[in-house]
Amino acid sequence: MTIIKKKFYHLFWNNPSCQNLFLLSKEELLETKTFGEDNSPYSFSTNRIIVSNAQDDQNEFIDTIKNRSELYNMEIDSLLNEKIEYFKPLIEQFFDSKFKKSIEKLINDVEKKPLKFLTLILKTALDDENRETKAIEFLQDYGFIGKNLNTFKEIEANIGKSLMPSKSNELINENTINTFFEGVKFIKELYVNHSYKNLYNTNQVLINTLNSEDNFQSRIKLFGELYDSKIIAPTKDDAFIECSHCDPLTYRGVFQLRLNPKKLKDLKCPVCSNELTYFVPYELHSDIFNAVKSHDGLILYALQNKLLENGIQYELNKKFLNDIEIDCIFKDGDKRFFVETKMYKQNNTTEDKLISKIKEHFSKLIKDIERIENNEEFKGLEIIPLLLININSEKVLNITQQYFKLNFSENKYYKDGKIINLNLLKFKN
Ligand SMILES: [Zn+2]
Repeated sequence: MTIIKKKFYHLFWNNPSCQNLFLLSKEELLETKTFGEDNSPYSFSTNRIIVSNAQDDQNEFIDTIKNRSELYNMEIDSLLNEKIEYFKPLIEQFFDSKFKKSIEKLINDVEKKPLKFLTLILKTALDDENRETKAIEFLQDYGFIGKNLNTFKEIEANIGKSLMPSKSNELINENTINTFFEGVKFIKELYVNHSYKNLYNTNQVLINTLNSEDNFQSRIKLFGELYDSKIIAPTKDDAFIECSHCDPLTYRGVFQLRLNPKKLKDLKCPVCSNELTYFVPYELHSDIFNAVKSHDGLILYALQNKLLENGIQYELNKKFLNDIEIDCIFKDGDKRFFVETKMYKQNNTTEDKLISKIKEHFSKLIKDIERIENNEEFKGLEIIPLLLININSEKVLNITQQYFKLNFSENKYYKDGKIINLNLLKFKN
């Protein structure tokens, strides 16, 4: 096991905040981007965890930030359009005055004598020796360049001259250059706002979204420990910081920040001295990221870690028939525990939905077991189904467990089987 994994599981088993955090579904733990239609969206999770203090109980800060950002976007959009509108006629005029006649003549000739035209182009292209002379003659005939220009070098120098800013230059002068740089500034602002939007729109674990056992301090402390153990590290991606107390645009920006999460609380607004609102991305170490994004999620790896620690024999992802895969089978004397692991999304769901999913998955596990219980390898052994889930709520666990005990008491699997979380998984030694 790598040193990062060792450090991680040490924190995981000893720090309830760590367990709560990493037992979130990957979409909730990691920055997740979604593309496409509402009915069949495609989404993927990156290795970024975004630490933020934006979400409080009343959603006061995050709402302020969203509103401010949307309004500002509208403003930049319209200002940028203004700049583009400013340039359009200038550019059209520039081309009209220089090339309109030439282009009209060219189009006219191509339409009237296409074959002759094609021959001319082929001749020019194939004539290695006189290509330059022929091409220049062609450009002169149509008036794209003056009779005074006789080599490609001269044309290049001439174009350079026409792009030099001067008062008499209709395209590039003091006014247009100023307008251009103003436009560039708005593009930068658009980028800033876009990055910001990306940060606050991810369905992220903002550090204020807490389980009941957690509090803000415990989670900040955890992020500090994860950082010290190099399980999370600073990224090259920009962080976003804004003062939600001051007037809009007083103090906000996108920039590089390499900071221990413990120190984020020291970020104070230089204007009003209040704590700043921040979104700071960190990168999750690949050892842990790979476990989090794996098909069964971190919970199966945590189970494996616990089994290893207790010296218990197990097999992972064992396949039976064509369509059955048992996530983990571990041994205890004559008992064989058949484990199905599930990590449910906990935000934006209702208790009823959760309960109905748990029921469905536990029933599926037992139906699978009933199809393979007579396999030679399980003769004389006692099979016990375990649905191992990432739900801490005792209420939810009790309701589902009771439902099966009451309604399916004649079936030994429903009677002996258990729906548990990692904390309820105890071994004798
Ligand atoms: Zn301020």
